[in-house]
Amino acid sequence: MRLVAGITATIAALLLPGIDVAAAERSVLVLAPSADDDRLDPAREALAFWNARLAELGVATRLGGPRVVVASPVARVLENYARGVAQRAVRLPGGEAEPDAPPELTRLAADVVLLLSRQDILSYTWPLPRVDPPRHLVVIRRVRGPDRNDAMVTRHVVAHELGHALGLLHNELADTLMCGPCQPLAAESDETGFLPLTDAERARLVALHGDPNE
Ligand SMILES: [Zn+2]
Repeated sequence: MRLVAGITATIAALLLPGIDVAAAERSVLVLAPSADDDRLDPAREALAFWNARLAELGVATRLGGPRVVVASPVARVLENYARGVAQRAVRLPGGEAEPDAPPELTRLAADVVLLLSRQDILSYTWPLPRVDPPRHLVVIRRVRGPDRNDAMVTRHVVAHELGHALGLLHNELADTLMCGPCQPLAAESDETGFLPLTDAERARLVALHGDPNE
C-alpha cells in the first residue's frame, strides 16, 4: 500500500506542478486489536476504493497508508472515548460543550484514526473537536450477535464511514454507499465492488477537495 501511494504521489507531482501533493494526502492510521483481525483486509479495500474514486474525480486528495498498529497502548483510552461519544450524541455537531478528544488521540500523527473497536457499539465517524486542519476518528464496531459481519459488510461500513471523513453526508437512496439509514445488504454493488456514489456526492467531493487544475 505504501509503495503504491508513493508512486501515485510521484506521478501526480509530475502532472500537477505547483500542487503540494503531500499536503493533499490524508494520513490514515489503523488501530487493530490483533494482526489477524478480519476487518483489516476489508479496511484496506475500502481505502483503495476511495483512492480510485478520488483519482477519477481529478482531485489531489488521497487517503495515505494505511499505517497499521496492532494492540496499541493507547487503544484502551480510545475505546473509552469512542464509547463516550457514541453514548452522547453520535452524528450531532459537538458544539462548545463537546469535550476535547483525549491527548492520546490528538497526539497520534494521523488525519484519520480508524479504530477497529473491540466493542459492539455503533460504527461512526467523529470530527475531533477544535482541531484544525480537520481530523477524524472512525470507529468500526466489533459485531457480536446476529448481525452480519462478513468482509462485504465490513468494507462497505468502512467505506461509508470514510465517506463521512471526506465530507459526505447521508442521502436517502437505499442502494448507494452513503445511504442513511439504509439496508445496504439488499442492494447490488457496481463494477467497483462497492455500492455507488451519487452524482451529487461526486460533485460535493470535487467542491470540497478542489479541482487541481483551477
Ligand atoms: Zn453514516
